[in-house]
Amino acid sequence: MESPSGVKRVDGALRQHLAALLIGVLYGDDEDSLRMARTETHRLVDAVTLCLGTHPLDESGGCTACRATGCVLRDDLRQALRPILTVPVAGG
Ligand SMILES: [Zn+2]
Repeated sequence: MESPSGVKRVDGALRQHLAALLIGVLYGDDEDSLRMARTETHRLVDAVTLCLGTHPLDESGGCTACRATGCVLRDDLRQALRPILTVPVAGG
């Protein structure tokens, strides 16, 4: 299992990557945005699949890693993958 400092380092690296991606999508042209989206979709699916593999479910649907009916990882993924709500631009 990753140490807490290792988790913070990975979390920080992921946040930096996502921030760079967001800037690229916001300020890049359509072709750049499509290229990044295609690349990131594969990475996202791979990352989620890898994470879920560390929290397999038992026959009753309980997480074997969290040892509970609820799974902290699945709850975090559910929150992270929620759609981004856009805020209407004032005057627009
Ligand atoms: Zn779990």
